[in-house]
Amino acid sequence: MSNLDTTPSLTHVGSSGVSAQPAHELFAGREVKLGESTKVRRLLPNLGRRLVGAWCFVDHYGPDDISTTGGMAVPPHPHMGLQTVSWLLEGEVHHRDSLGSDAIIRPGELGLMTAGHAITHAEYSPVPHPALLHGVQLWVALPEAARNGSPAWEQHTALPQFVDGPMDVTLMLGSLAGETSPGTTHSDLVGVSVVLSGSGSLPLEPDFEHALLVMSGSVEVDGEVLGVGSMLYLGCGRRDLALTGNAQLMLLGGEPFDEQIVMWWNFVGRTGEEIAVAREEWAAGQRFGAVPDAGARLAAPPLPPGSLKPGGRTRR
Ligand code: MN
Repeated sequence: MSNLDTTPSLTHVGSSGVSAQPAHELFAGREVKLGESTKVRRLLPNLGRRLVGAWCFVDHYGPDDISTTGGMAVPPHPHMGLQTVSWLLEGEVHHRDSLGSDAIIRPGELGLMTAGHAITHAEYSPVPHPALLHGVQLWVALPEAARNGSPAWEQHTALPQFVDGPMDVTLMLGSLAGETSPGTTHSDLVGVSVVLSGSGSLPLEPDFEHALLVMSGSVEVDGEVLGVGSMLYLGCGRRDLALTGNAQLMLLGGEPFDEQIVMWWNFVGRTGEEIAVAREEWAAGQRFGAVPDAGARLAAPPLPPGSLKPGGRTRR
């Protein structure tokens, strides 16, 4: 998926706001329109917080009835310096990229695209498609050692899964409770899908910061009931998380990301200059490759004026 904001801001991000202690901070999601018919709730980045571990972008969409619409339609667009994670609870997404990958992603499968230095992809609802579409699009910032590497596409249809009382847990990415996802990671992180029916306790890595997204139903955490679309920042220092409710949840976490990054449109870099170069190269049809027969490629929006100075600190 693409950030289709027509006036994205240049965002400087660092780990200065990491809570070393357990926290309880509700993210305000905001509704963003993607293309003609798809609306998403953007939980990350938001004004208060830009990173959870290396997770730097969280869009939650649906469940939407797309039986009479085209569904998802995101034409070719570039990425650099990040991984995209596609995860569905309902429906299907057709992924194609400039490596020649051509895959249908289904519920419970991990679609993991590592952009590295440069990649282009396109995402559409297949024709025909199931009536409902419900999922998340997540980005992971790549650390310095990996961000200029080769692009790659992985699809994992069999992920580690365990049942712990009322919790059915699937390891999407990273490790939890002795289980590890086969998806390639470049920093210590975790992403798990949890189906909860009752009261349970999820083991956490205390050195990680975490956040919990409610994708359906409701859940009580620390005495507060969270509804659909809520995302709760939990800080670091928790060894477990007590959960009560009937809900589909996503837990995201990781080692606090200690590199200062710059996010703009679909790029993660380290300086504004680097972002400007990537934008020019995409506009010139260079570097990022192409996805044939996937519609007209997205044009990059204009850079905000006067924003090319590196450094700066994020608002927290
Ligand atoms: Mn994308």
